[in-house]
Amino acid sequence: MNLNHKEIWAKCLLEIKKNVDERAFNTWFKPIKPVMLSGKTLTIQVPNKFFYEWLEEKYINLLGSVLFKHLGKDAGLQYQIVVNDHKDIVGNYEKSLDKKYKEKNYFNIFDAEFNYQLNPNYTFENFIEGPCNQLARNAALSIVKNPGKTAFNPLIIYGGVGLGKTHLVNALGNEIKNHNPGAKIIYTNTERFTNQIIKALRESVIYDLVNSFQLVDTFIIDDIQFLEGRTKTQEIFFNIFNFLHQRDKQLVITSDKSPKDLKGIQERLISRFKWGLVTDLKKPNLETRVKIIESKAQRNHLQLPDDVINYIGYNVKGSIRDLEGVLVSLSANMMLNDKKIDLKLTSEVIDNFSHNVDKEINIENIQKIISDFFNIPIEQITGKSRKRNIVIARQLGIYFSKQMTSYSLKQIGSQFGNRDHATVLHSIKTVNNLMDTDTLFAETVAKLEHKLENSLIKPVY
Ligand code: ADP
Ligand code: MG
Repeated sequence: MNLNHKEIWAKCLLEIKKNVDERAFNTWFKPIKPVMLSGKTLTIQVPNKFFYEWLEEKYINLLGSVLFKHLGKDAGLQYQIVVNDHKDIVGNYEKSLDKKYKEKNYFNIFDAEFNYQLNPNYTFENFIEGPCNQLARNAALSIVKNPGKTAFNPLIIYGGVGLGKTHLVNALGNEIKNHNPGAKIIYTNTERFTNQIIKALRESVIYDLVNSFQLVDTFIIDDIQFLEGRTKTQEIFFNIFNFLHQRDKQLVITSDKSPKDLKGIQERLISRFKWGLVTDLKKPNLETRVKIIESKAQRNHLQLPDDVINYIGYNVKGSIRDLEGVLVSLSANMMLNDKKIDLKLTSEVIDNFSHNVDKEINIENIQKIISDFFNIPIEQITGKSRKRNIVIARQLGIYFSKQMTSYSLKQIGSQFGNRDHATVLHSIKTVNNLMDTDTLFAETVAKLEHKLENSLIKPVY
């Protein structure tokens, strides 16, 4: 039975639907269009590069297995990316599932280009700097010229999901490679590493495998927390670590928690981690979030109005992965549903992404925090009083409502004692002027902003 691309994709969708929740299905799979089937390679069209990256990262296993099921073991998947009008193909990201799924003979890894596993899309250039990553980034940069020979050996980078560990260590590997094209660099993750070890043990070729690892100049291993409880792999890793470290080869390790919190990993390994630099990636602050949004939007030719950028910055306070998720969804909505990206859409998208109905800042929230801060009852803030301190509290409430929520001037006015559009505008202007001229006032605004920011519950997927 020979099925065409549409029929194959329809079958895949049925299967996918059983495996993901409805929201994920609607967001990530419904927008996909099957384009053609060439041999056993299915081409699908996705709205943009974000989308493609998201599928690759989150759903490749699922996509792989359903395609396998319907196309057989040489199944391939190819992505087409469209911009603006649906026919304009700007990218053709080919991924042969075959490559990913066919069990690799591990020796090939070392015959092939040593750095082939680094992700070339992760560079320093597109890694936005901020207080959240400054130390880790600088440490990585200083390793570039002298891998293995700085005090940062090993370099241990830890932090929660989506904060940039994988990006940063790949950027480091890529930059070492740029600097020294002959460098032998291995980037692997703990899962892949463990699987290789298990296979090599089973086939009694573990010495060959270990020898191959010992040939590298820079060994980058991601998500070391997955070594927890794996005694045999830890032992082998320990040997590779010692061998390389003694020869001044660079080791770079990431983990989702600090070494001291890694349970089920041998103490002798943990104590070696402390020989170098242990540093973490934190959640980005507002300023960095805004920079990241701007940079990602620009790279993806996504034009975002300033108020939308600010709104996302204020309201999406989790990881950088969360920020990307919102941008992907926005651009998908724009391209597929032909919607304009404005505050309304943005707030819907953020709502969708978050399980918590309460997470966005709303005007009551702002009024309450301002009322606590100045110790002025809300009724007075929204009331008629012309007393200076009350007027200022009111103006600040209006100012933050405009900054942080998606409400219109009219809606804001109505929640501040039915004030009209002109009064609302005037309040915002006054606050801006005062901030420019009065440093004490500017500090107060910053403090309040901080309080408001921290009052939010962060969106979670
Ligand atoms: P982790 O490995 O810590 O879970 P990733 O490195 O996979 O996180 O990062 C998640 C996403 O966020 C990636 O797409 C990455 O490119 C992006 N990202 C992370 N940090 C930054 C940054 N400082 N600037 C720009 N993009 C970033
Ligand atoms: Mg990672």
